[in-house]
Parts: sequence; structure tokens; C-alpha cells
Amino acid sequence: MVFAHDTELALAAAAALVNTARTDPDELSTGAQLAEFARTWQWTGARDYAAELAAVRDLRPTLERFWEVDKDTAVDIVNRVLRESNALPQLVKHDQLDYHIHAVPPHAPLAERMAVEAAMAMADVIRADEFGRLQVCGAEDCQDVYIDLSKNRSRRFCSTSCGNRANVAAYRARRR
Ligand SMILES: [Zn+2]
Ligand SMILES: [Zn+2]
Repeated sequence: MVFAHDTELALAAAAALVNTARTDPDELSTGAQLAEFARTWQWTGARDYAAELAAVRDLRPTLERFWEVDKDTAVDIVNRVLRESNALPQLVKHDQLDYHIHAVPPHAPLAERMAVEAAMAMADVIRADEFGRLQVCGAEDCQDVYIDLSKNRSRRFCSTSCGNRANVAAYRARRR
């Protein structure tokens, strides 16, 4: 494990959220899709997903910037998000989860919780000088972002299926 478990989960969730906008059609177009996303990424609590959809969609370009900017600019984004949401890190334990950090209360708007969790996770990445682990998929037909959590930073694709597809394409190219 490269980072703490809650950091790795938050990083994967941030990448997944960004990726919902990097496919056509957009994978976060309805409240039901947001509800499904929240379930998948373990955002607990009952919510009016239709009402929160617009704010979550608007958050995506901000998080996407982490994959586009240099480290110093990423620091500015992290600090701004934490400042604007009055983040106050607290260690908590709930449900089946062992101690992890909540920096905004559970009843805060979903977009704010998502922004702060992503920013806290990015703070870990930057402090550990691992910002280079933020990558864009190497497959020609995929724009998805990901975090390379492999030990030797050797990952080149967002998913196994993209890796397999690229390998097949390379094999075919060699045979031609
Ligand atoms: Zn929690
Ligand atoms: Zn991919």
C-alpha cells in the first residue's frame, strides 16, 4: 500500500468522478446515476441526489485539474478547497471502518464532501512527493485518469481492459 487506505479510496473515487465526464455520453447525467456512484464509492447517508447532481457535476472540472497542472498549482487548488469549505480534520470511526479522517461533517453537501476528501488525499500525495502518480490512460481510445498505486510506478493504463486492448493492438501492429 502506497498511501493510507482512506487516501487510496479517496484518490480512486476522485479519478472515477473525473472520468464520468471524460466519456461520451456523460456518466453522471441523472440523480439515479449519482446515487449509484455514491453507493459504489461508499458515500454514506440518505440524500436527494437529483438536487445535489448539479453541484457534483460542477466539481468535476476542479478535480480534473489535478491531472493537468503542475505540483505548485495543485497545492493552490488543495489549499483553496480546504479553505473555502472550512475543512477541519477529525479522526472518526464508524460502521465497519477503522479510524480515518473526516474534514467536513457528514451532513455537508455531497459535492463539498467529495471536494474536501479529494483535496485531503491530494495533500497526502503531494506531501509524499508522489504527484507523478497521477496519470492519464495510455490507451489510444481512452481519456480516463487514474492513480498509479503500483510499487514501481509501472502502470500505464486506467484499467486491465484498456491494457489488454492496447496489447492486442500492439500485437496486430507488429504482425502487419
Ligand atoms: Zn467515514
Ligand atoms: Zn483507459
